[in-house]
Amino acid sequence: MSKAKTQRRPLSGGASSKQGYRFLNPYNFVRTLEPRNRHLAPLLGRCAPPPHDRYVGLTGRVYCRLTATTPIFVADSEDVCEEHVNGKIHRHYRFFRDPAGNIAIPGTSLRGAIRTIFEAATNSCFAHFAGDKRLSYHLLPELALQLVPARVRKIDTRWELELLPGTTTITPGQRPSGPQYAAWVHVYDPLQKSKTVAHSPNTPYDRRLKLSLTGFAHGELGHAIIERMIHPRRNFEFWNVVHLAKSHQPLPKPGANQLRVSGYLCITNQNIENKHDERLFFTTQQLNPVELPDTVRQKYEELIADYQERHRDEVRKRRDPNRPQGTEPAFSRFIVEGRQKLTDGDLVYAMLDKDGNSGYKVRFIVPVSVPRVGFERTIGDLLYPSDLKKCATYDELCPACRVFGWVWGDETAVNPPELSVRTAYAGRVSFSHAVLTKDGGTFDETLAILATPKPTTYRFYLRPRTGKPQNGQDDRQVDYNNQNQILRGRKVYRHHGAKLNPQEYRSVNGAKSDQNRTVQGVQQADSVFEFTIDFENLAPLELGALLWSLQIEGWHHRIGYAKPLGFGSVQIKVVRVSLLDPTERYASFARSGWHDQDQKQIDAWIKEFKQAMASRFGAAFEMLANIRDLKALLADKPPLPVHYPRSSRQPQPDGKQYEWFVGNKRGGKNPGPRIALPLAEDDSAGLPLIDKYGDLSTE
Ligand SMILES: [Zn+2]
Repeated sequence: MSKAKTQRRPLSGGASSKQGYRFLNPYNFVRTLEPRNRHLAPLLGRCAPPPHDRYVGLTGRVYCRLTATTPIFVADSEDVCEEHVNGKIHRHYRFFRDPAGNIAIPGTSLRGAIRTIFEAATNSCFAHFAGDKRLSYHLLPELALQLVPARVRKIDTRWELELLPGTTTITPGQRPSGPQYAAWVHVYDPLQKSKTVAHSPNTPYDRRLKLSLTGFAHGELGHAIIERMIHPRRNFEFWNVVHLAKSHQPLPKPGANQLRVSGYLCITNQNIENKHDERLFFTTQQLNPVELPDTVRQKYEELIADYQERHRDEVRKRRDPNRPQGTEPAFSRFIVEGRQKLTDGDLVYAMLDKDGNSGYKVRFIVPVSVPRVGFERTIGDLLYPSDLKKCATYDELCPACRVFGWVWGDETAVNPPELSVRTAYAGRVSFSHAVLTKDGGTFDETLAILATPKPTTYRFYLRPRTGKPQNGQDDRQVDYNNQNQILRGRKVYRHHGAKLNPQEYRSVNGAKSDQNRTVQGVQQADSVFEFTIDFENLAPLELGALLWSLQIEGWHHRIGYAKPLGFGSVQIKVVRVSLLDPTERYASFARSGWHDQDQKQIDAWIKEFKQAMASRFGAAFEMLANIRDLKALLADKPPLPVHYPRSSRQPQPDGKQYEWFVGNKRGGKNPGPRIALPLAEDDSAGLPLIDKYGDLSTE
């Protein structure tokens, strides 16, 4: 190891190190495996599940004891209290209770947590993966300038685009050669003070009159007087709308430097803090319509769905999402509308390519001028190996779908199979609630804001197909379009160690809002719960995999709420396994047919699973990449503090977690460090604090 590298690593506990504070990201990923010997241990691959109506395998019950190693909280959907704080609703939750009123962990939470480990350990399919989904990213501003305003036309069954580039000749692949394609309609006072106006007082730009859009609808045809203008700071030309009128209303005569035009109003709302203008799409040129291919339309609709999904929760919280609220901008019209299908008359921006001498081909269309655009590759394309996509047919189910159950499709699924085809399998395990048997004490807490996952942080979600993630690469080398990049694997929130630092889970200054929760009756560490799992028709290997996934070598499961903040680490111990002998049970009234199994038998099932994994994947069980990653994330107390990336040692009241990512990914002359998350098993040296300018900070 080089000297420089050694110096960067803190000796112990990041907070006390002289080399600078470092911390660990709350999550990392468990890698997938490729079979070395596909013909060995076929039950670890895909096959048809056994029937439910006769006994063909092991049937019985597992008795488990669950001990909390950190505070744990599982919310009850009942008895949620709402508190009004500064015009927003702050929610209080209590701990889950079973139908008899006992404090309990619901069977569904247990099942989810155990399935997660079982899937990772057995290299099963990605059951929670919208494989056809396409992620999106912000188009670079210099590319956004090339977008050409257009209007969608549907004539019979034919789809085309009517191009509306104003007075400027379209130059695909370049910025406009004359004034910007669409005219500007000055209608808003920016939510943040305009730098352009502040730096350019008394210019024609500064003196532009504000117009009112009252009575005008998005997409409406109107006419206008426009005037040529130069942007005083960025030096490009554009047409500014001076007068706007409905088609039947009169307009004054255009003056020098002015034009009278007809066009469509494109109103997308005041969706950015510094936005002051809407647009008028028009053209003074005779242009042929351009064909709008099905694939382009389909990708546009996926993109709109992605936008809507991304903002769904925030939109619901707003009184009027079409307008700004305080200093927060409005949501774009197409996000609020809730419609995804493209229709005749829609206004869009098109990225064009040259086609022959005078024609154009449409590469993609987007709803706004500085848009997000979909990546070429879908999430499914990024899965590696690609056969780990969610199981699709009844006769070919992975180990987890056969044991825990399977339903065809997901929320994005299209083309369901014929009615005669089986589309669900009930699974062969059922979990009881885990009832509290030893109360470790409780407390109430107003928690810090939980960040929502941002899968466009490529450096955290993707890795190269071969080799390790590298720091310092630019966005194109690490994004979803790069053929060499694959998804890192299954996301797991790491165990924080038994002693949590309240600074990391408490809301700063106890602030309450609609972004965070107050939780009541959090169970302290050392609380004990008990539950059972009934299983039927399991093969010995499947039962072994289940028992291993319960105990995971004494490592920690992550259950319930606030896992990124450190809550919810628990250990599970199998205390008893009882098998049912159906012949004995149904042949005799005197005997129950239940037989407790000794520890030797339990160990033998687990060993059978481990040996099957080793033979199929070609390495000793504990050397397999997925098992090593699970161990790295769930076994021991990590060497550094664990929290979301941020700019300062202390959590900030407003969250602002994105600033670390903005600074980290910064490109250009003075780039940010562009740090990639290490693989889970290498992830112990930690990340530095980074401010939004990409500088490392020590405070
Ligand atoms: Zn599956």
